[in-house]
Amino acid sequence: MTQTVEPGVTGDEVRVLDLVDQLLANHDPHGDRFEFMGAQFDMGLAWVHFPEGHGGLGLMPRIQEVIDHRLDAATPHRPSFFHVIGHGMGAPMLNTHGTEDQKRRHLKPLFTGEDVWCQLFSEPGAGSDVAGLATKAMEDGDEWVVNGQKVWTTVAHVSKWGMLVARTDPDLPKHQGMTYFLMDMEAEGVEVRPLRQITGEAEFNEVYMTDVRIPDSQRIGERGDGWKVALTTLMNERVAIGGNPAPRNAGAIADLLEVWREHGGTEDDRDRFMKLWVEAEAARLTNLRAYENRTAGTPGPEGSTAKLVYAELNKRVYELATELMGPEGMLYDTYELFQPQSAEEMSGDLRRRFLRVRANSIEGGTSEIMKNILGERVLGLPGEPRVDKDLPWTKVPRS
Ligand SMILES: Cc1cc2nc3c(=O)[nH]c(=O)nc-3n(C[C@H](O)[C@H](O)[C@H](O)COP(=O)(O)OP(=O)(O)OC[C@H]3O[C@@H](n4cnc5c(N)ncnc54)[C@H](O)[C@@H]3O)c2cc1C
Repeated sequence: MTQTVEPGVTGDEVRVLDLVDQLLANHDPHGDRFEFMGAQFDMGLAWVHFPEGHGGLGLMPRIQEVIDHRLDAATPHRPSFFHVIGHGMGAPMLNTHGTEDQKRRHLKPLFTGEDVWCQLFSEPGAGSDVAGLATKAMEDGDEWVVNGQKVWTTVAHVSKWGMLVARTDPDLPKHQGMTYFLMDMEAEGVEVRPLRQITGEAEFNEVYMTDVRIPDSQRIGERGDGWKVALTTLMNERVAIGGNPAPRNAGAIADLLEVWREHGGTEDDRDRFMKLWVEAEAARLTNLRAYENRTAGTPGPEGSTAKLVYAELNKRVYELATELMGPEGMLYDTYELFQPQSAEEMSGDLRRRFLRVRANSIEGGTSEIMKNILGERVLGLPGEPRVDKDLPWTKVPRS
C-alpha cells in the first residue's frame, strides 16, 4: 500500500511509514500479540531511536510518534499500564547502561510484554531518600546474595524481572555503595505480597528477599554504579509518568469535558472548568516544547516539571468532575481487594480515577521532591542541607 505523504513529512518518516505498512501486511495485527510485537521489534519499530538490532533504527525519538499513531489505529497490541515501568524506564536504562548481551537477551521480551518488569527501589525506610536504602547484596563467587525488603512495587505480582538497587558497600557514603541488578522475580527467596490502595485495587506490592541469588551477569553497570543507573531510571520515570505529549482534550481533561457535557454545572463551575482547561492546555504545550527539545539520551529536569504539574492538575480536574456528578459521584462499586492480572482488568471508572490520582503526587517522586529538583536544578536556588552525604552509610542514623 502506498501512503499519501503530507507536506512537511521527512524522508525518515516516509521510510518508517513504509515499514509500518510492511509490518501490517505481513503480520496479522489482530493475531498473536507476541508474534506481532516481536516483528515490530525486529523491524526497528519498537523504540526507533535505539540502535539497529535492539528494536530501533537509530533515528530521532520523535519519529516514534508517527509509528505509534499509525499502530494505535491498526492494532490492539499496544503497550498498556503493565508495560509503563518496563517500557518507560527499563528499556532506556538498559539501552544506556546494559551490555550487548543484556540488551540482546532482555529488550525483545520486554517490548512484547512476554516479560513484565517492576522497579524495586523504595523501602519502608527509603522512599524520597532512596539512596538511604538498606537491602543488601553480598558477593559470593560469581553470584550475589540479596536480603531485604522493598515496598510499593507496582506490578511485582505479574513481573518476571525486577530492577533492583541494593547496598553492596555499606562502609562507603550512601550514594557510592550501591549496585544495580536485574532480579528474576521467580527466583527462590522472592516473596510478593499485595498492598491494597485507596481504590480497593492492589496494583502494587511488598517484596521480601531472603537469600536470593543473582548471577553477576545480571548486574547492570559496575559495582558501586547503582546510583548512576538508578538516576537514569528515575529521570525516565518522570518523563514516562508526566512527560509524554498528549493530543488536545485527552486524558483527565477529556473525562472532565465528558462529565460537563452530561451534567453541566453552575457559572462558578464553568469558571473553574475553564481555568482547568487553560492550565491543562498550557501544561500540554509546555510539555510538547520540552519533548521537541529533548534528544535521545538521559532526560533532564523538564520531566520532573511536567510530572509535578500533571500530578497537581489531575487531582483538581477529577475533584471538579466528581462534584459535577453530584450524588452519582459517590456510587463506588466495591472496595474489595482486587489484584489485576492484566491491564484489561483495571477499571476505567471515573470515580476510581478520582481516588487513583491521589497517588500521582507520591508515585515516581513526591511533588515536594519535584519542587526541590525544580528549585535546585532549574532555578539554581541553594541546595537543601545534606549533612549525611559524605558519611559512611553505616554511620547515618536510621529510624
Ligand atoms: C501508586 C504508587 C506506585 C508506586 N510504585 C513504585 C514502584 O513501582 N517502585 C518503587 O520503588 N516505588 C514505588 N512507589 C513509591 C514512591 O516512589 C514513594 O512512595 C515516594 O518516592 C515517596 O516515598 P515515601 O512513600 O517513603 O515517603 P517519604 O519519603 O517518607 O515522604 C513523606 C513525606 O515527606 C516529604 N518529604 C520527604 N523528603 C522531603 C524533602 N527532602 N523535602 C521536602 N519534603 C520531603 C514527602 O514529599 C512526603 O510528603 C510507588 C508509590 C505509589 C503511591
